[in-house]
Amino acid sequence: MRKPVIAGNWKLYKTKQEALSLVEELAPLVADAGQVEIVVAPVFTVLPSLVPAVAGTQINLAAQDVFWEEEGAYTGEVSSRMLLDAGASYVIIGHSERREYFGETDETVNKKIKAALNGPLIPIFCIGETLAAREAGETFKVLERQVKGGLAGIGAAQFAPVIIAYEPVWAIGTGKTATDAQAQEAHAFIRGVVSELYGAAAAGKVRILYGGSVKPENVKGLMACSDIDGALVGGASLKAASFASIVNFG
Ligand code: PGA
Repeated sequence: MRKPVIAGNWKLYKTKQEALSLVEELAPLVADAGQVEIVVAPVFTVLPSLVPAVAGTQINLAAQDVFWEEEGAYTGEVSSRMLLDAGASYVIIGHSERREYFGETDETVNKKIKAALNGPLIPIFCIGETLAAREAGETFKVLERQVKGGLAGIGAAQFAPVIIAYEPVWAIGTGKTATDAQAQEAHAFIRGVVSELYGAAAAGKVRILYGGSVKPENVKGLMACSDIDGALVGGASLKAASFASIVNFG
């Protein structure tokens, strides 16, 4: 009943020509994946040139970040209005790399989710604990703080399109995937927090993606978990063959 989402986070990779080649190679490989919502997130500068390439395919475009103001004197920022104009329909918000290197906090993430929803863009709202937090037994505490902080002041109707991505920081780009059981446990907990905030019906509908070293070899086990509704894929999304085999996990 929850349509799976497989999203590729290209991070700071792929120039225009490289991105176009990747999409052109990917599109036929995922043409039969009607049961899956496919999203790719290139760098901002590449978005407009991918619009014609994804037209008529199953592939949707995401940005990797958004600023919370619509316009103004904010040098270097990009607003949801501009992302829509550039062809994005989704936006990744609060990725752990942004939290770690660019000073993102639950508060800035919250403002960005609100700006995305007003766009309207579909936010892919990232959360996840560090290794230190996991080892200190604070995983649930961190996840609860991130979910509640990121969604503060967002009502149930507004929340509906939000996609959550659980990405344990220690599993990102490290080759270390959470075990299926670890991921399922975290996802069930997150769904519980959503239920507390918005009720059981909303919790039953929200898509919660797993991210952190997802590969063709481990996607099937993860997707078999009852609370895992898709994947946010970094490294393995940079090659058409590996991303396509993740999309075609079934
Ligand atoms: P990874 O990245 O798949 O390379 O671990 C995931 C992410 O950062 O979204």
